[in-house]
Amino acid sequence: MKAFVLMIIGVCFPFATFAKEKSSDLQFDSLPYAFNALEPHIDAKTMEIHYTRHHRGYYDNLLNAMQDSSLKTKTLPQIFSQVSKLAPAIRNNAGGHYNHTLFWKVMSPKGGGAPEGMLAEKINATFGSFDKFKEEFKAAALSRFGSGWAWLCVGDDGSLFISSTPNQDNPLMDVSEKRGTPILGLDVWEHAYYLKYQNQRGSYIDAFWNVVNWPEVNARFISLVGNKKPPVKK
Ligand code: MN
Repeated sequence: MKAFVLMIIGVCFPFATFAKEKSSDLQFDSLPYAFNALEPHIDAKTMEIHYTRHHRGYYDNLLNAMQDSSLKTKTLPQIFSQVSKLAPAIRNNAGGHYNHTLFWKVMSPKGGGAPEGMLAEKINATFGSFDKFKEEFKAAALSRFGSGWAWLCVGDDGSLFISSTPNQDNPLMDVSEKRGTPILGLDVWEHAYYLKYQNQRGSYIDAFWNVVNWPEVNARFISLVGNKKPPVKK
């Protein structure tokens, strides 16, 4: 229904739609910590190549692919919501840029431990316990064949769910099996772990828990559901 309404708006106001919203997510943010800051869990060489070559490559290719395009005035989530109709270069590079921007921010040298507050309660209510959540997330990350991502997402109804997407897709895309807004993402492309972990993706996933920035993930959760009050019973 939402997609239909958006389509009607797009047909009626093709030049006005979202035109005022200048995309603010089209910047290449600096890494919030040094390349070696996540050692020993993620090594400095991997971080450096990952950030300066892989992420930068997606970003530069995205800007090239969007040159002279009306997409420049849209936010990445707006682009993702209609990505099935767009060129593969947009899908791959917009996804690559968005996914990595999120990934760097949900990790921290002071990370690890367990979530607190609203997110902790929601994780316990949804998955049974934090350990059960980690098991399910690891299974999603391990079972992604080839390259892709594992996600913790918030659905439109405020629910939490775990999913996985191939390549540089993400759960905001209209091509995604399960749609929602990711609040935590783990890159399981080999470029994210091969130098240190070789084929041991499971060891890389286990190490990831030591660097997860839970306050950041909790803040993202609250920004999505914090203002939603439970429906009033009549
Ligand atoms: Mn990557």
